[in-house]
Amino acid sequence: MTPAPLIELHVHLEGAIPAATLWELVRRHGGDPAVPDQAALGRRLAFRDFRGFIAAWTWKNRWLRSADDLADAAAGSAGAWAAQGLIYVEAHCSPVDFAGSGLGTAAVVAALRRGLDRVPQVEVALIVDLVRDHGPEHALACAAEAAALRHLGVVAVGLGGRETSFPAAAFAPAFACARAAGLGVTVHAGETAGPAGVAEALDAGAQRIGHGFRAIEDDALIARLVRERIHLEICPTSNLRTGVVRRLADHPLPRLLAAGVDCSLNSDDPLLFGADLAHELRLARLEFGLARERIHQLQLAAAAAAFQPEARRERLRAALASTPGDP
Ligand SMILES: [Zn+2]
Repeated sequence: MTPAPLIELHVHLEGAIPAATLWELVRRHGGDPAVPDQAALGRRLAFRDFRGFIAAWTWKNRWLRSADDLADAAAGSAGAWAAQGLIYVEAHCSPVDFAGSGLGTAAVVAALRRGLDRVPQVEVALIVDLVRDHGPEHALACAAEAAALRHLGVVAVGLGGRETSFPAAAFAPAFACARAAGLGVTVHAGETAGPAGVAEALDAGAQRIGHGFRAIEDDALIARLVRERIHLEICPTSNLRTGVVRRLADHPLPRLLAAGVDCSLNSDDPLLFGADLAHELRLARLEFGLARERIHQLQLAAAAAAFQPEARRERLRAALASTPGDP
């Protein structure tokens, strides 16, 4: 059965590589004696908290060493998205992670695009992650580089990394640079830090917020999100697995929706969290009790919040099934 068409706005390309593709890359580069087979690979990527997640992320990147590796990784991720029925994805990529291999932002994005082009069934727009841990000066330079890569499908800049150590305010010049070039801005905020981080990201120029669920702790901020129609890219399994939410039953998604906040559902890093978008949509029905029609509305909300011209967003909305799928 052909899956229903789907849209996703918050997923990291390097965190969506299928395990089989990553295993190929590990073997290509001589392997790791501590990881003798693909089952061991799964154990190597397991973690218990946010620190462990960052350690697993970093280990995985060790095997992406060349433009060809990045192209193969991108093709693998896109293949997994196409298999789920995704027709449009906004995928974060973090070029600075590959600077040690001598690859600059333009070279990384070109390599990823080469891989994505092998999977024409899904349109993948790229969000260049400025990675807050490298500081505001690097972010400004990276935003300027991203602004010159729109022809390779870069539609926005993002800001990931350690939110508590690197608040968003210092990155306002980088966001202004991106927006002046017509790029969107989305910031990871209100995930490991509290609601003040969400307000700060908006004040700094963010148009969408990655996660942002801790906004629920501040009524005035919730009112602002509703008033300014700020879209939150919600990733429930990610929040559970990194330990920022203790139990799914504690996740504020239902309360955010009840308050009228614009939200979508997203997978964040399927390789590391073991959950793709289809899983998140099932979770919304089975754990949060959302009706199929409501879940379909969240998909339409994702289309409406895409970093695309209005005519393209309208086509995306039309392309989603007119009747809800069966997540
Ligand atoms: Zn993320």
